[in-house]
Amino acid sequence: MRLKNKVALITGASSGIGRETALLFAKEGAKVIAVDINTRGGKETVKMITAKKGDAFFYKADISSADDCRKMIAYTKRKFGGLHILFNNAGIMHSDDGDSQSTEENVFDLTMAINVKGVFFGCKYAIPLMRESGGGSIINTASFVAHLGAATPQIAYTASKGAVLAMSRELAVIHARENIRVNALSPGPLRTELLMKFLNTEEKKQRRLVHIPMGRFGEAKEMAKAALFLASEDSSYMTGTEFLVDGGITAAYVTPE
Ligand code: NAD
Repeated sequence: MRLKNKVALITGASSGIGRETALLFAKEGAKVIAVDINTRGGKETVKMITAKKGDAFFYKADISSADDCRKMIAYTKRKFGGLHILFNNAGIMHSDDGDSQSTEENVFDLTMAINVKGVFFGCKYAIPLMRESGGGSIINTASFVAHLGAATPQIAYTASKGAVLAMSRELAVIHARENIRVNALSPGPLRTELLMKFLNTEEKKQRRLVHIPMGRFGEAKEMAKAALFLASEDSSYMTGTEFLVDGGITAAYVTPE
């Protein structure tokens, strides 16, 4: 088991990447705190873990709230006594997020509050407990759109993921001597709710698929495996960098037919 005796907090654990990662981390021996704003999904994730004799608790938090984030860390300490892995994974892609002309200020602000400030709050409140626990690994979910402009625009989302990537580098530099590693995980387009709700017509899906050399959307399970690598000692000399898991989309200029 690659995460035996480790405590892992995962945000956005009610669905998609977060749920698959919670299941995989628990299978690898981690004690999991599953955080989400969606109670039903989060409790389901925990049930799935405990049904397989894993150790997990759900905690409801809105990661854009400093108070909620402070409390989710206090809850983690109460339940498991420490923290070694923080997966800042929760994020939104708003359906009204478009180009600079069509996107309203409230959509931009909400996206930033969850996707960027949520990561900042996660780190702000988790790092003291990680220090106390002897160090650990922080994984922040960015996206391939931190590198490429999308033809189906999502200006707020794109800006937010660029910020996550930049923030992850600085966090890594500042906390490297405290045995806390910080890396970004940048998924390509995935077949999860988040993207499928946004690419809600066959035409929009094809518009995206045409750019992916592998010719398919990625799966949440494939991201969970990448997160496991970053969380475990397998990546012990990696910090301040990015793990792009994207079906080749950022490598392509023209994709094969
Ligand atoms: P998802 O929608 O399946 O899961 C996101 C989870 O975050 C949901 O359970 C949701 O309830 C939770 N959440 C949303 N706002 C929250 C808040 N304020 N507080 C707490 N929880 C909140 O999406 P996913 O595809 O699993 O996405 C996970 C991460 O991966 C996101 O950061 C997303 O931006 C990123 N990502 C996804 C894709 C993709 O194609 N799906 C690509 C690149 C990056």
